[in-house]
Amino acid sequence: MSSPGHGPGTGQGAEPAAGRGPGTGRGPGPGASRPRRAVFLDRDGTLLLEKDYLADPAGVELVPGALEALRSLRGAGLALVVVTNQSGIARGLYSEADYHAVAAELDRRLAAAGVPVDGTYHCPHHPDHTAPCDCRKPGPGMYLRAARELDLRLEGSWFVGDKLTDLLPARRFRGGGLLVLTGHGAEAARELPADFEAVPDLPAAARRILAAEAADPR
Ligand SMILES: [Mg+2]
Repeated sequence: MSSPGHGPGTGQGAEPAAGRGPGTGRGPGPGASRPRRAVFLDRDGTLLLEKDYLADPAGVELVPGALEALRSLRGAGLALVVVTNQSGIARGLYSEADYHAVAAELDRRLAAAGVPVDGTYHCPHHPDHTAPCDCRKPGPGMYLRAARELDLRLEGSWFVGDKLTDLLPARRFRGGGLLVLTGHGAEAARELPADFEAVPDLPAAARRILAAEAADPR
């Protein structure tokens, strides 16, 4: 499991929330006043069924069991944040407005089910089509922004997705990375580094996270 204790990776110390906690030797227990940790969820192939370059709200289809999975994670006190690379915008396949229409439909479904996410961030860039950016996963930009805007603690957060690029930020931020085998996950699983773990799907990821949280509340 990758949660704590593996190397800091490329670590350009990206802990905006550091220094905020009480800083005594004992870690604060659950409910202490440190910022919440989050589960950072990839969208396509993880939360939603993979549809190549989804740009139509009618194509929004949640992975089976997603709502219950999100509800259980929320219940454990974890923030839910969607982080999604949307290079289709840079590629000219669809517009920002198309993206936002899909995002709004997903938000509507989640809110209707009583499990709204705390935030959604997208990267519209691609280095072949736009200037380089720091937000395209596995870059840190979306996570740092979410931490700042939502007052989250990245260390010990969870990074869930169907590609390695969704998990790599777990190294930088010293969190846990879980690969789901939905979407492109089966391909990614063939060369999954040992500090990450594969689970069948989002509901299984939620169970894995809840088990780890119960064993080691932070
Ligand atoms: Mg994906």
